[in-house]
Amino acid sequence: MGKETGFLEYERKDRTYADPAERLKHYKEFVIPHTEPDLRLQAARCMNCGIPYCHNGCPVNNLIPDWNHLTYEGDWKNALEVLHSTNNFPEFTGRVCPAPCEASCTLNITDEPVTIKSIECAIVDRGWQEGWIEPQVPASKTGKSVAVIGSGPAGLACAQQLARAGHTVTLFEKNDRVGGLLRYGIPDFKMEKHLINRRAVQMEAEGVNFRTSTEVGVDVSFKSLKENFDAVVLSGGAEDARPLGIPGAELPGVRMAMEFLTQQNKRNAGDDEVRAAPRGTLTATGKKVVVIGGGDTGSDCVGTSNRQGAESVVQLEIMPQPPEKENKLLTWPHWPLKLRTSSSHEEGVERDFSVLTKRVVGEGGKVTGLECVRLEWEGGTMKEIAGSEFTIPADLILLAMGFVGPKKAGLLEQAGVELTDRGNVAADTVSYATSEPGVFACGDMRRGQSLVVWAIREGRQCARAVDEALMGVSELPR
Ligand SMILES: Cc1cc2nc3c(=O)[nH]c(=O)nc-3n(C[C@H](O)[C@H](O)[C@H](O)COP(=O)(O)OP(=O)(O)OC[C@H]3O[C@@H](n4cnc5c(N)ncnc54)[C@H](O)[C@@H]3O)c2cc1C
Ligand code: SF4
Repeated sequence: MGKETGFLEYERKDRTYADPAERLKHYKEFVIPHTEPDLRLQAARCMNCGIPYCHNGCPVNNLIPDWNHLTYEGDWKNALEVLHSTNNFPEFTGRVCPAPCEASCTLNITDEPVTIKSIECAIVDRGWQEGWIEPQVPASKTGKSVAVIGSGPAGLACAQQLARAGHTVTLFEKNDRVGGLLRYGIPDFKMEKHLINRRAVQMEAEGVNFRTSTEVGVDVSFKSLKENFDAVVLSGGAEDARPLGIPGAELPGVRMAMEFLTQQNKRNAGDDEVRAAPRGTLTATGKKVVVIGGGDTGSDCVGTSNRQGAESVVQLEIMPQPPEKENKLLTWPHWPLKLRTSSSHEEGVERDFSVLTKRVVGEGGKVTGLECVRLEWEGGTMKEIAGSEFTIPADLILLAMGFVGPKKAGLLEQAGVELTDRGNVAADTVSYATSEPGVFACGDMRRGQSLVVWAIREGRQCARAVDEALMGVSELPR
């Protein structure tokens, strides 16, 4: 523990953001990091709890008190090593993780958790800056080969761990660049993409062979992979978006959030956005935008619409508005249900809750509005409030209502693996083995729509399970 009295002496002070008027002019990250002295004082607030709830709240079980202590001491290099011992990509989670660790921190009982996420991000950013992060090339090869399908955080973490264990790894990705939703879902203003490129370079040097623009099940058959590799890992994500099953949903102004977000991310990268847009270029510029869905994807649509210069942005949520503040005695150290206001919300949006969409209104084939009704929720059941119908003017409606599971056509049909009742690939979290021998699954494809940090955890654990299945034993951490 760095400083016994740190938590009494120093107040929580987190990273700040550039002013909305300024950051809306571009798509770059806008978080202003701590200065080094400030960061060390923030790390000094850690109490090194007898039971570090933060450690359990974190899905990759980051050794948080340990690196808080090292940061306070200014021992950045060792802090980086401890951080990397549980997380392949802390620069991703240090930017986009909702930080369940901070919700679990003992100091969150009084609403002033240690700024764990910012400290994590600073340690790894420093590591890159100092040139301490180098390829970890295995001393010897095992002679075994593994195909990993899907290059999101789960596939990347799995491939990196397997390559470090000495296996020959080929990572198949249907998109032209690696990263999965980190690349094409999450906007640049939350996480710039050079961070993924840098890791890809490291992984290539460690022996991972990237096969982009290759869809397994279309460009190469699943059967050929089974024949040519000793093991196959399914990490293709949960791509099936929940549709809007109401009249008028087929109008061209009603579009999937991922179509919208992918195009902007491609534009930022200087890529051909239209190739990824079978229904043509799509922007919110000068439009009245309605985003349906109150989660992360919806919030990213809000931020992107505002940057594109939308006339107005409304975000609808079917569930009731959660409380602004949680009841700590009922929720801590668990993740609480409470109103979350993202940086994109702060940039301008009208949010509305307990709203059911009924019909998309159009004129001459163009969307003009969205008919809605207000809901009453009782015991988890919703009831429409008679006479509460209203219409929101709209030119563009973005659907961000979540994902129902992985796509079945192509890969999963050919793989023939058993699915769960919810349509995800069935596999437990010890063996990560599917119903097909030699075939494993991890990330959103196995657990359903989730978080980057869970994908990293599953990728790492799955790599260990594959290594054990191939070699009889494994030294990879779980
Ligand atoms: C818009 C949006 C914003 C989000 N924001 C956050 C956030 O801020 N914080 C957070 O923690 N989580 C966020 N998430 C969730 C998070 O991105 C996912 O949980 C995570 O990326 C899942 O990782 P994965 O590796 O399992 O799958 P994915 O990231 O979905 O990657 C799967 C990859 O597999 C590829 N693939 C699929 N099928 C094939 C095939 N047959 N052949 C070859 N390749 C294939 C896909 O092209 C894709 O690249 C967000 C999600 C979305 C949609
Ligand atoms: S719960 Fe908070 S104060 Fe306790 S060890 Fe973890 S980060 Fe430090």
